Amino acid sequence: MPPVLPRPASAPPFESWLQPRPEGIFCAPGEFWIDPARAVPRAVITHAHSDHARGGHGAVLATPETLEFMRIRLGDGLAAQPARYGEAIAMGDVCVTLRPAGHVLGSAQVVIEHGGQRAVISGDYKTVRDPTCEGFEPVVCDLFVTEATFALPVFRHPDPAAEIAKLLASQRLFPASTHVVGCYALGKCQRLVMLLREAGYDAPIFLHGALESMCAAYRAFGVPLGDLRPATVAAKDALKGAIVLAPPSAIQDRWARRLHEPVNALASGWMRVRQRAKSRGVELPLVISDHADWDELLATLDAVRAPEIWVTHGREEALIHAASLRGIVGRALSLVGREEDAAE
Ligand SMILES: [Zn+2]
Ligand SMILES: [Zn+2]
Repeated sequence: MPPVLPRPASAPPFESWLQPRPEGIFCAPGEFWIDPARAVPRAVITHAHSDHARGGHGAVLATPETLEFMRIRLGDGLAAQPARYGEAIAMGDVCVTLRPAGHVLGSAQVVIEHGGQRAVISGDYKTVRDPTCEGFEPVVCDLFVTEATFALPVFRHPDPAAEIAKLLASQRLFPASTHVVGCYALGKCQRLVMLLREAGYDAPIFLHGALESMCAAYRAFGVPLGDLRPATVAAKDALKGAIVLAPPSAIQDRWARRLHEPVNALASGWMRVRQRAKSRGVELPLVISDHADWDELLATLDAVRAPEIWVTHGREEALIHAASLRGIVGRALSLVGREEDAAE
C-alpha cells in the first residue's frame, strides 16, 4: 500500500472549516451543507437517494442527473445549480469540484479545497464497474469522508454477472413462474436491467409502476435499457415466465402474490446475510450492491492516501480500526438519518 500523505504539524484541524454536525457536514468558509438531513439555505448533494437528498433547501448544487432525479422525487421548485464532473466552482472561500462516485447515475464525490488542503466527501460509492454510470474516480486528498455500510470482512460482494446467471438459471428451471425481483427504484433497477442485457437477455423486462419514471429518466440520459413494459397493466398470463422488477416493499404484497407462481428475488448487498434473506421471505437472494464492500473500502483508502478519515455511517468502528493499522487517523461521525436501506 502507498504511504499516506504527510500532514504538516502547522495545518489547522479540518474541524476548523468542515464541521460535522448530527444533521450533516457544514463547510463554514463556503457556507453550504453536504447532504443535510434538514432543509438548509444552501446544499451540495452527492446523489438523489432519499437519505442524502431532502426537499426544501434554498439552493442545491449537484450534477444535472441528480437534480433531475430530485425533481422526479420531490417535485419542481428546486433552485438548482447544475455542476458537471470536473467543473471547478468557487463558493465563498472554497473551491468545489464534483467527481464520479460510481454509486448510481449522477452520483458524485464532493471535493473541497481550502487553505491548501483538500477534503473529499464521497457520499455513497462503489468501485466495481457499473454499466449505468461513470466509474468511481479516486482523488488523492488530506481528508477522506467515507461511508462504511459494508465495512466488515464478511462483506465481499460476488461478481454481479454470476448473480444474474443465478436468476436466469432459475428462470430456465421454472419456466412457468414469474420471477419478481425487488430492487431500489434509483440505480439498482437500471443496473439489473443492463446486467441482464449484458448477459444476452433481450426479452421484455416488466416494471412495477413505481420504477417507471426513473427508468424513463435514465433512458433520457442515454442509458439504453432495451424493451421495458409496464407490469401493472399486463395480463397475468403475459407475465408467465417473465422477469418483473418491483420495489423491495412490493415483492411480498398482494400484487406480487397474484402473479403466476411467483418466485421472490431481492437484489441487495444484505443478501450476503442468509438470515436477512430468510426473514424477508426471499427465495432467490441476489448479492448485488451499489456500496463498496470491505476490499473496495480498504483499496480506496490506499488509493486516496488521506492521513485522516471521517466515517459517516455503517460499520464505523471496523473501518476506523483497519485504517489505524495503516497509520490513518479515523473519526466516527454517526450522522443521523442515513438509512441502512435493505435494498442498497
Ligand atoms: Zn445511496
Ligand atoms: Zn446512503
